[in-house]
Order: sequence, then C-alpha cells, then structure tokens
Amino acid sequence: MIRDIFKRKRRQKEAKMPSEQAKNDVPEGLMTKCPECKDIQLTKDLMRLLKVCPACDYHMRMTANERVEILFDENTFESLDDHLKTENPLGFPSYTEKVQQDAEKTGLNEAVLTGIGNIEGRQVAVAIMDAHFRMGSMGSVVGEKITRAVEKATELNIPMLIFAASGGARMQEGVLSLMQMAKISVALNRHAEKGLLFVSIMTYPTTGGVSASFASVGDINLAEPKALIGFAGRRVIEQTVREKLPNDFQTAEFLLEHGQLDAVVPRADMRETLSKIIRLHVKGNH
Ligand SMILES: [Zn+2]
Repeated sequence: MIRDIFKRKRRQKEAKMPSEQAKNDVPEGLMTKCPECKDIQLTKDLMRLLKVCPACDYHMRMTANERVEILFDENTFESLDDHLKTENPLGFPSYTEKVQQDAEKTGLNEAVLTGIGNIEGRQVAVAIMDAHFRMGSMGSVVGEKITRAVEKATELNIPMLIFAASGGARMQEGVLSLMQMAKISVALNRHAEKGLLFVSIMTYPTTGGVSASFASVGDINLAEPKALIGFAGRRVIEQTVREKLPNDFQTAEFLLEHGQLDAVVPRADMRETLSKIIRLHVKGNH
C-alpha cells in the first residue's frame, strides 16, 4: 500500500526549556525564537535544522530558495521565467512599489519560484510558492509561471511538484488573480491526460483560492506538519455555520484524519518521500 511508505516513527524530542531571562533577551538577527514554544536557536543553525524547532517540531516558514537547497540534487536546479514582470492592471495605488520591495527582499521576481531539477537522479518540474512575497498571493505572474512550469513538465514527460504557500487571491489584481487558478488547473489536466504524476505539497499557509483549486488536486496530496490549510478564515466559517469549530480545524493533521490528504510528511523526510513516490510512478524506472 502506498500509505505504508509514509509511516514514520515520530522522533521523540526532549523539550529543553531555556531560562525566562534568555527568552526575553533575544538579540535581533543572531537568534531566532520559535513562534510556537519560544525556544531559541542560533539563526545560523536554522538551515541545518531545516528550520524545524528541535524542541517542539514546529516547522518554520521557508523561502523558495531554501526549499530548493534541501530538495534537489546539488547544482541540478535551473529556474524558469525569472524575467516575467508584474504589471499593475487595475492601477492600484502603490502596488508596483510593494511588489518591487518584496522582489528586493526575496530575490524573486514574484511569489513563486519555478524550475526543473533532479531529486535523487530523477528529473522533475517544480513550482515553489513563497509566503514572504505578498503573502504568496496569486497574481498574474504567479499564475503564468506555475502554468508554464506545468506545461514544461508536460512537454518533457516528467512529474510536477507544487509547494503551495498562499494567502489566496491577490486583491490588487481582482478577477485576473482568480483566472489564474482556472488556468493552472487546465494545464494540470493536460499534464494528467498524458498519465504524468502531480504531487501537491501544502505548506503553512495554504489558503483561499489556492487551497480550493490546484493545491487540492494532486494525484498525491501531502502537507507539512501543522500546516494551516483552508479556504475561509475560522471566524468567517463560525459566523456562517453558527457552530464552534474544533481547535485543530484547518490543520494538516485534521485534514489527514478526514481523508483530504494522503500524508503529513515531516520536512526531514520530504526529499526521500518525494523520491520514493516519483520512483514508484515514473515509467521505465527500476
Ligand atoms: Zn518550538
């Protein structure tokens, strides 16, 4: 059974409590505090820890470039469509400046990094959304880059991986933002018609239209531990259905329990898990 390969012994981690004094005295930049348990790590050690808190297993946000670093065989990743430039179609005040600022902050041209690379020797196409850029919201260039990556995967007959991280639609692009979800879904359908594999990996946060469209239609849908995944916010739903929602509602673990995910995969196991899935599904592999 496919699910058997996902079974992992959860590592038991000893929670070490730093003194209260240390907790309140974190030098800016040098140390990073876990948002969940407030444990403190040297920032320079974070990548070695895959940005996972050793005390409570909290998966901190990663940039798209950091994911490339931990996912692909060395020097195999080639990015695509870095030249595409976001316009301001609705003339939204200061939108261009905000996009420009996030581009400088992240080194990306938009809220997704796409490309081709090898995972344990097998070529895949990937789109990695980055919540550090406009909250990973879906703009026209984000949609175009993901669509082109899927089309590239279709052309090369290789699997497609999408790491979703998104606050949903991009307000400043109105209906053009919403159209991207349909465009990506159509491209994925063409990819599927050739019998090719699409794995969706939902990371914190996968919300709004992104969660309600392409992120949920993988042949295999994975998520990182405790990832927030949902369409509308908790308060909106509670007000609409007039019921109190369970505490773990909209977490990866809740969705797994209710059959909406195939597995919740710790970051430390992600590369190996994806490699196994790809090996099992790609034709002509031994
Ligand atoms: Zn922690």
